[in-house]
Amino acid sequence: MAAFGAVDMALWDIKGKLAGMPVYQLLGGKSREGALVYAHATGADLPDLMDSIAYYVDEGYKAVRVQCGIPGMPSASYAVPEKKGDIRNYITDYAGIRPKVEVWDTGKYMRYMPDALMEIRDHFGPDLHILHDVHHRLLPREAAEFAKAVEPAGLYWLEDPTPAEDQNALRLIRQHSTTPIAVGEVFNSIWECNRLIENELIDFIRVAVTYAGGITHVRRIVDLAGLHNVRTGFHGAPSHSPISMAAQAHLNAWAPNFGIQEYLVLGTSECNALFPSEHRMENGLMHVSEAPGLGVDFDEDEAGRYDYTPGSHPVVRLEDGTMWNY
Ligand SMILES: [Mg+2]
Repeated sequence: MAAFGAVDMALWDIKGKLAGMPVYQLLGGKSREGALVYAHATGADLPDLMDSIAYYVDEGYKAVRVQCGIPGMPSASYAVPEKKGDIRNYITDYAGIRPKVEVWDTGKYMRYMPDALMEIRDHFGPDLHILHDVHHRLLPREAAEFAKAVEPAGLYWLEDPTPAEDQNALRLIRQHSTTPIAVGEVFNSIWECNRLIENELIDFIRVAVTYAGGITHVRRIVDLAGLHNVRTGFHGAPSHSPISMAAQAHLNAWAPNFGIQEYLVLGTSECNALFPSEHRMENGLMHVSEAPGLGVDFDEDEAGRYDYTPGSHPVVRLEDGTMWNY
């Protein structure tokens, strides 16, 4: 589906250029001026996470995903740096051929995180959209308990509370909690999320054009979701290039049932030189480019200046060595 997606995005780009229109116009036009995005705040502990959130709020973000180290956890947990003071970047830890090992303890996480989320809510007030990613680490019953426990924090969403394969787990969570649930970043087609959408077991669908067949296929998912009041929240991790993020910027501008877009600040001068575009972030909203097509280019000569650097996601184990869900 990623291969289909690449060809599909190229075809939309070509058609837009032939028509002299940005792709969102081919989809039917804009539903909004700018698309809400969320940044990734992180910290080795809660005070560092508070500093990280404050940094993104100062930058104008209205929505922030929050992840922090858990006291007593044998190693850094998901999307958390190992060192204190590192409040903006945990990505470089992924470099290297051999994956690093993270050790996970569900009990410590469940005892600590609900109060931490409440502290964040109290500190930043009612207007900030707070998101949190469990990254598939809880069992269904645990996830239902956790979703209920974090209700007072008023999360914008709780992401991937359980492994995606067991779709009944979402029903158990639904029966016990009103916390909004977001899933779908590992889905590759509409057939993996149609029952979740039709049964209204989720609030946000997180598929991405990169893995779910491009703009054409994702548009079908968006329309199905719209019938059931499920909003979009497309995946936007660093594994998605600026080309796929541009394609999603057009879907975000158009989708009547748009919710939010994950957005990592990768706008380094090197990245901008590789992928020139006029998509721009302003006051926590992404403004889509008005250039014909996708509005992003790829400079192959510039790319030739760089060597390939391999990287791996971590693997997760319990303290006794049992392999766990990443
Ligand atoms: Mg995620």
